[in-house]
Amino acid sequence: MPRRVIIASGNRHKVGELQRAIAGLGGVGEVEVLAASELGPLPEVVEDRETFEGNATLKALGFAAWLRGLGEEGASLVVADDSGLCVDALEGAPGVYSARFAGPGASDADNNQRLCDELRARGLDSSPAHYVCALAVGRVDGGALPGQSDEGVCVFRGRWDGVARTVARGSGGFGYDPFVWLGGGARTVAELTPEEKGARSHRGAATAAFLAALPGLLAG
Ligand code: IMP
Repeated sequence: MPRRVIIASGNRHKVGELQRAIAGLGGVGEVEVLAASELGPLPEVVEDRETFEGNATLKALGFAAWLRGLGEEGASLVVADDSGLCVDALEGAPGVYSARFAGPGASDADNNQRLCDELRARGLDSSPAHYVCALAVGRVDGGALPGQSDEGVCVFRGRWDGVARTVARGSGGFGYDPFVWLGGGARTVAELTPEEKGARSHRGAATAAFLAALPGLLAG
């Protein structure tokens, strides 16, 4: 039977990316990658910690408990992520509140408006900023994994530095991408192709670290 890696997300884009990456890996045997949303209505997990790592951990543990209740194989892995943008001039905001910077249910446009408003309120039109992605990986049965935290998950982190500006350009990506300018200021993240973004991004870095560890995680 193939080992299962279950992504704690209904986001087909994230799931597809991981499916392709794992399919291209050697040394992991037969692995089936699936979205938790294929298994049932997703559980509500309260992500109320102050760090990306903490919230990714809560999500991985919450989904593992939900999967146990569904009778999922204990050795299956659950992968949860949390990510966001930290702006220096805003003392690291929006940070873990990135998805709801402008309030509950905020759209990307609302959040970007708030980002610009906050910069302008400080007399600024730009600030150094960075994206962060934390990926937490746990076994469905809570069993031990090499390198796990005290809470029984392995956390992989990626960071991507740029400059947040009140000027936007580009139509690719999502979220804050049109307002995040890369080194030298020639391009925004929204002007990168998906492949370019994946090769350089916070999520790409966290995913690469996870993939490098995957053979060891599946060995147990
Ligand atoms: P989540 O981790 O998928 O819930 O993302 C949290 C929020 O962080 C998103 O809604 C975006 O606002 C922001 N974010 C995370 N990663 C990116 C990115 O690669 N580009 C733009 N915004 C991002």
